[in-house]
Amino acid sequence: MDCIFCKILNKEMFSYKIYEDENVYAFLDITQGTKGHTLVIPKEHIKNVYELRDVDAANIFKVIPKIARALKVSFDPIGINIVSNNELPLQSVFHFHIHLIPRYKNDGMELSTINNYGNTSDKEFNNLVTLIKKNLM
Ligand code: 5GP
Ligand code: ZN
Repeated sequence: MDCIFCKILNKEMFSYKIYEDENVYAFLDITQGTKGHTLVIPKEHIKNVYELRDVDAANIFKVIPKIARALKVSFDPIGINIVSNNELPLQSVFHFHIHLIPRYKNDGMELSTINNYGNTSDKEFNNLVTLIKKNLM
């Protein structure tokens, strides 16, 4: 399969591994957006968050705090972003992954959210809740 992360898992490609268990693998992101930038992936080829089963999510997310703590102790960041890009145009590798991005003062990393506080009415909030809850499966 033409997937970079599967190649890493199959040892056809090198990676700087920091953690591995039966279901999950973690390694340093090649770009090191910030010092310690790490990726956590399932060993199974799963494209994106929409395809994760509950058990996959549990296996992946249960190692996130452990790795986050290791990054904190190792590099003393001021904080950490935990991010997952899913589907085009945001996702560039189509094997699900979580980025752990330690943050440092003036690191230049741009990750921001838009603040629309005050722009959503109570009716709109309730409509959002109704729609999302209807689609929870
Ligand atoms: P995405 O853009 O899908 O959220 O993230 C994919 C990440 O995979 C990028 O941060 C990119 O630097 C990383 N990446 C792509 N190819 C390789 C590789 O061959 N080795 C490693 N370690 N990381 C890679
Ligand atoms: Zn893959």
